[in-house]
Parts: sequence; C-alpha cells; structure tokens
Amino acid sequence: MLKKTPGDDDKVALWEAYRARKPDAQLLADVIDLLRGERDRGRRTLDLDERTLALLFDAPPTRPPAPRPAPRPTERRFRPESSGPATQPRREDAAPAASTLAGGPVSEATWEQLEAAVAACRKCLLARARTRTVFGEGDCDADLMFIGEGPGVDEDRQGRPFVGAAGQLLTRMIEAMQFRREDVYIANIVKCHPPGNRNPHPAEAEACLPYLYRQIALVQPKVIVLLGAVPLHFLLGAKGITHCHGQWREFRGIPVMPTFHPAFLLRSPHFKRGAWEDLQAVMLKFGKAPAASRRAARERKGQ
Ligand code: SF4
Repeated sequence: MLKKTPGDDDKVALWEAYRARKPDAQLLADVIDLLRGERDRGRRTLDLDERTLALLFDAPPTRPPAPRPAPRPTERRFRPESSGPATQPRREDAAPAASTLAGGPVSEATWEQLEAAVAACRKCLLARARTRTVFGEGDCDADLMFIGEGPGVDEDRQGRPFVGAAGQLLTRMIEAMQFRREDVYIANIVKCHPPGNRNPHPAEAEACLPYLYRQIALVQPKVIVLLGAVPLHFLLGAKGITHCHGQWREFRGIPVMPTFHPAFLLRSPHFKRGAWEDLQAVMLKFGKAPAASRRAARERKGQ
C-alpha cells in the first residue's frame, strides 16, 4: 500500500493522479522514455531516495490482474495438498522467510494459494507491463520439470509457458525424450514478461524465485532440466551455458541438467546436436533408450 507520510503528500497525489490516467504498459513506456532522455542528456546516474523508490514499487495497481484461462482438458492441473497424500516425502522449501502470502509464507502455500498469489503479485516492476502472469503448467506430480527464463510475448498474451515457436520446439524436444508435454511440469524463473524479451534483472528474479522454489517443492521432480543461461545463473549461481550444458548439477538434492533454451536453438541450430545429447543423458536417468538416429537407421539399412 502507498504510505502517506508528512512531506510526501504532493508527490503521492501527483503519482496517484498520473497512474489513474495511464495503463501499466504506458506508464512503463513513459518511465523508459524519461530514463532514455536523461541518458541522452549525458546523465549517468539518478538520485532516488528510498521513499521515491517505495512510491514507484508500492503504488497500488490501477486495474485488477487479468483472469487466467480455464484449464485445458488435457492438463492435469494442480491439486490442492489436501486432496491426497504425497507419494514421496516433502522436500524442505528454503524460500526466504520474508516471502509471505496473505495466508502465510510462500514456502507453505498450496497450489491454489500459490497461483492466486502470483496472479495478484506486484512485487517487481515486471508487473507494470504484463498482460497476464504465467504461472506454469503441467503435471503437478511430474518426474521431469523444465525451467526457462520468463514469458515471451505469446506467453504473456496467453498466460501459458512456452507456447510460441520456442514452445513448439520444446514440445518436440519433450516428445523426442519419450515424454508427453502434459506429463512434465514447465515453469520459468520470472512469471511476468520482461519488456523486449530482455533477461530478468537480478532484483526481479530474486523477487520471483520463492514462487518457483515452492513449485519445485510441490512437484518434487526426479530431474530438472534448465533451459538456457538465465535459469542456470539464478537457480545454480553458475555462468556459461555453452560450458555447463550437459554436466549434471544438483539443486536441493535434485539432479539438474542444464541445456540450451529452445529460442536459442532456433537461432543457432548447430547447437541442437549438443542439446539432444544433454536430453539423452536425462532419458538414461529414466531408463529410456534414445531412439536410433535417422542417419544411423539409414546406415543400418544400407548394410
Ligand atoms: S515477475 Fe514475479 S515477482 Fe515480479 S511481479 Fe511478476 S510474479 Fe511478481
């Protein structure tokens, strides 16, 4: 909530009047224009005291979050924890204690509480320009979980992860691994679309990660696949996906395989072979034998 303290009244009134006239996307565009103008005038830094920052970040929304689409019939949607006993012992969720919902800490949220909290979340500036939050989707008891960086334009419109061209490639990758898309769980580091498809800033990732930590704790996957450099950095603190891909890591006791983001593979198809080798290593963890490549099959036929 916006806090009015002595001396802030004029600033608060101006800000509220301005927000009342502008949709979130326009507000963000105005702030970006302002910052660009300052930069063009040669200004390298801006002096913002804590109170001004608080006004920017804590101002109330001018419109309620967009409703999420109804679950698709093929999706096994998130069940409340009370709907049945977990099949495995729960892992401890180490989300920061300060991350709380109205009903308690994020680290203890049910699926419904978590999804509602994300839909209403305005903890970082990405809330300003989003159309919808993109919570994640798939099997809430999945053995295999994929984590990307954040929603793109298509995902922002539809409220679902990986639905654009990169999403179609991800679906083909999942199927090549002999899984169905609806049998895995797919989430992102941040739940709101970063403008211009830029990488999430550290403060945005930090604000959003408790939701992902809780999703991982609820799903309890046997293996996590990280898609690209952003989840590698923010989840494992590692850098350099071209160096780290294909090497097993661990997150809270769960084996983690970093590989390339499908969008990167669309731009740089010569990395697809390396990505496929990473995914085959994951298949072996599940006792799945990779199908023989077409070339090998052709070679055998020619013998
Ligand atoms: S990106 Fe995450 S922390 Fe930021 S507003 Fe969206 S849901 Fe909240």
